[in-house]
Amino acid sequence: TVKARIMDADKLRRALTRIAHEILERNRGTEDLVLIGIRRRGVPLAERLQKIIEDIEGVKLPLGILDITLYRDDLTTLNIQPQVNETQIPFAITGKKIVLVDDVLFTGRTIRAALDALFDRGRPRNIQLAVVVDRGHRELPIRADYVGKNVPTSCKEEIAVQLEEVDGVDQVLIREL
Ligand code: 5GP
Ligand code: MG
Repeated sequence: TVKARIMDADKLRRALTRIAHEILERNRGTEDLVLIGIRRRGVPLAERLQKIIEDIEGVKLPLGILDITLYRDDLTTLNIQPQVNETQIPFAITGKKIVLVDDVLFTGRTIRAALDALFDRGRPRNIQLAVVVDRGHRELPIRADYVGKNVPTSCKEEIAVQLEEVDGVDQVLIREL
């Protein structure tokens, strides 16, 4: 059941526009900057950031895709195993400033797996993280550099980031499980 609608299409658009500006400000432009979206919804989000940045700076950033799924080999969270599936990064990452993009940051395990996958492929200059929602409950020392909205949640809640490209509507909901 839906508990609250915390972002509508306008709020989401403004948050992504702000994040695009923050990325450009912190990196002093687009040089050596690349975007990597984490499937699934991190990919359309990365594409939107790519478009906004292109509108502002006239530069289309390279965009890659990481597909990571978490599976449990038993019922404890400590045994959640990330699995890196398909990876589409059609450019060299050595020396690059990578902005990872995902919809929700929760325990941090997906990002940890993403970092592992990236370091297998080269030596980036740095890696930054952009998410639409940080819902708390971190289990690893990982944090986001760019956050659409911080949403403290209980473990019985879930965040639904719905995107036009995937869900036919732009909105963010809190759902009670
Ligand atoms: P973590 O690995 O940080 O525990 O979880 C982050 C990953 O799981 C993200 O890729 C995100 O898509 C998904 N995730 C975790 N919690 C939620 C949630 O409440 N809502 C949504 N939409 N995704 C979540
Ligand atoms: Mg995900």
